[in-house]
Amino acid sequence: MKDFHNSPIISTSSINTVSNDIDNTTLKDANDATTESGVGSKTSRGTSTSDCVSKSNNTLKVIGQLQNMSTADVVSVCANCGKEGDDVKNVCNKCNQVKYCNAACKKKHRHKHKKDCEEHLRLAAEQTAKLHDEKLFKKPPSQYGDCPICFLRIPTLASGRSYNSCCGQIMCTGCIYGIRSKNTDALCPFCRTPYRKSEEELAEREKKRIENNDLIAIYNSGCNYRDGNPGYPQSYTKALELLSMLELFHRVVELGNAKPNHREGQSGHIDACSGIGYAYEHGRGVEVDKIKATYYYELAAMAGNVQARHNLGINEENVGNMDRAVKHYMIAAGSGDDDSLMIIKDLYSKGDATKEDYTKALQSYQAYLGEIKSDQRDEAAAFTEQYRYY
Ligand SMILES: [Zn+2]
Ligand SMILES: [Zn+2]
Ligand SMILES: [Zn+2]
Ligand SMILES: [Zn+2]
Repeated sequence: MKDFHNSPIISTSSINTVSNDIDNTTLKDANDATTESGVGSKTSRGTSTSDCVSKSNNTLKVIGQLQNMSTADVVSVCANCGKEGDDVKNVCNKCNQVKYCNAACKKKHRHKHKKDCEEHLRLAAEQTAKLHDEKLFKKPPSQYGDCPICFLRIPTLASGRSYNSCCGQIMCTGCIYGIRSKNTDALCPFCRTPYRKSEEELAEREKKRIENNDLIAIYNSGCNYRDGNPGYPQSYTKALELLSMLELFHRVVELGNAKPNHREGQSGHIDACSGIGYAYEHGRGVEVDKIKATYYYELAAMAGNVQARHNLGINEENVGNMDRAVKHYMIAAGSGDDDSLMIIKDLYSKGDATKEDYTKALQSYQAYLGEIKSDQRDEAAAFTEQYRYY
């Protein structure tokens, strides 16, 4: 059973993967694309302007009329002298909300407009923050998706899943146990390769997978450098180089110029975002940069990474934003993070979270357990602690 390699990432941050993960991430992209082209079904809760495209023709008409009206109303009146016309197009370059016929009018009006201008800016910032939070606190997809063998959700806990260094597939450890306990010479169910016999063979296989741009293999390797695992001289710089590389891959994918060469790739990328966030938060191989740390944590958390979600909760709690902290912990608990559940319990006992918060967190953690529990996984976990899955 040693033949399966539990990716080191898993233990420190979180790994993810398997079919649905990618599907989830791609799904997200696909949704965006659909919204833009106005074809798809309305799955998103948000009400961006592009959502309007998929609304009925009648709605479209009304929206069109409203837009025309407001354009006619707003356009081309000098806020200073009241002059109207197409040549009134000198816009306040701070708020972009008022127009002037020329620079002189703009200058004259500056003092009067100052307060309004600040208000416009404040409202715009508020709206941006609101939209951001809607996305941030939306229930994320399961980072690991379903096991391709038993079709049950892959557990969040590292020991509940494993990465096949032969072909890069991820499956649950219940299925590994199921396959290998019956036949110790069993082949990989995906690529029919015999399982590796030694650490050297594992390192060799991982090297090959890195050459093939396997994002999980690259990420694992980054983690090995970060943690100074056997065969990897400890180096934060080297680790970050590798982790950042994943981020680059992702950007390339987003731009549509390339695709990771197998479905598991996306999960490697999500873990990498979490890892980069951690590096920025703790200054591992880079200068500490809390803003960048939050940026990467949020990317990872929105894609379902539980570790990043948990860390966001901790950071909010540390600066006293209990509401936001509880929201993060709640999502993490619903994705199987019992640490977050315990924190909510603790916050409840201190009066920083409500009884309802704690009850809800408990319920969503139970719902998660309902999704991942199986007899085979229980059997595997009873056989060895290495296969414990919750
Ligand atoms: Zn004017
Ligand atoms: Zn202004
Ligand atoms: Zn399975
Ligand atoms: Zn394989």
